[in-house]
Amino acid sequence: MAKKKGLSAETKSAQALRQIDAATGGITPAIHPSSTFLRDENYQLINARHSYGRAQNPGYDVAEKVLAELEGAPAALLFSSGMAAAMAVVQSLRPGDQIVAPKVMYWGLRNWLIKFCDNWGLGLDLFDAADPDALAKTVRKGKTKLVWIETPCNPTWDVIDIAAAAEIAHAAGAWLAADSTVSTPVLTQPIKHGADIVMHSATKYLNGHSDVVGGSIVAATTELAESLTWWANCLGITGAPFDSYLTLRGVRTLHARMRQHEDTANLLANVLEEHPMVDSVYYPGLRSHPGHNIAVRQQSGFGGMISFDISGGPAAVATFVDKLSYFSLAESLGGVESLVCHPASMTHAPVSADALQEAGIGQTLIRLSIGLECSEDLVADVLEALEAARLESSPAPVAALV
Ligand code: PLP
Repeated sequence: MAKKKGLSAETKSAQALRQIDAATGGITPAIHPSSTFLRDENYQLINARHSYGRAQNPGYDVAEKVLAELEGAPAALLFSSGMAAAMAVVQSLRPGDQIVAPKVMYWGLRNWLIKFCDNWGLGLDLFDAADPDALAKTVRKGKTKLVWIETPCNPTWDVIDIAAAAEIAHAAGAWLAADSTVSTPVLTQPIKHGADIVMHSATKYLNGHSDVVGGSIVAATTELAESLTWWANCLGITGAPFDSYLTLRGVRTLHARMRQHEDTANLLANVLEEHPMVDSVYYPGLRSHPGHNIAVRQQSGFGGMISFDISGGPAAVATFVDKLSYFSLAESLGGVESLVCHPASMTHAPVSADALQEAGIGQTLIRLSIGLECSEDLVADVLEALEAARLESSPAPVAALV
């Protein structure tokens, strides 16, 4: 008789670990709006885990359990946003501690870190993730308390070696925290590679339907999870019951969605790489991507985000974006619908030209979040928009035709 195997991650998430609602038998967990929880005549909580809605809610429990399981960790916490999740980690450091983070990372978080560290007396040093020796040269033994990485890094999808970063962080006496928003636990489980903390903007793939702003932290030890839970409660940045329900609903289809995002992204990245209107393509699944080999080692796939430099300058960018029919011009990523973003005008609009150049984010960089639409429709749409951009940037020389 065939031996019964352990459940796969895909089955665990599709079934939300079969956490049947004890009160009703519902196979979908209930949403609990209650902000406070009853005590008995001896002042004891009816349910020891829940006392007050800012600290905990029965609706978070199921989603947190599933996320922890998918990441191979003892505990996960839900937050009101990805930024809030990051804030809980940074807030638990002390003045004088040093943080080390990559030069290219989610720009909103980078900006907040710079300001926060300056205001509150923490050291912050940014390293070049493309240089394999840079992290080791930047950490300071005994002083560095947090190494923050994001892999793949938004928006050029540089891949950072998590195991190598963990070794360097731990040798210095620091935690390694990995923003794994773009990878999701389907493609990478950073804790298995040595990370202490995994952060997600659940606004993106975990929820996947562009209808929640949320975040999560997954911790490698119960002790760390308890400490971050304390900070989350005190800061008042935990999730909300309905958002947690939607996040869990998203996580239940995460594996199937990631497969489809990646199938189309892979197809499109290869088409773009061959296209004469494209100068460079940034997709870790391409052999030409500098992070390809690390991605092969630590990821089980390459995800659904592609960036590329279009040739033809600003006019080509404008025409390309305008002529797309199935990609909406909007920030964010990881939803069912495809999105296009021009970082220099949108997510990175306040950034100086010099800083943009240093980060490799040029005026011709275009970012695509590949949705779940039919692959052929998306590829045809991009090809039509590229052709329109080609005609716009090099119109047929009329005199020569006569
Ligand atoms: N990390 C990454 C990689 C992101 O792309 C974002 C948002 O775009 C964040 C963190 C911040 O998450 P949130 O917008 O949920 O606060």
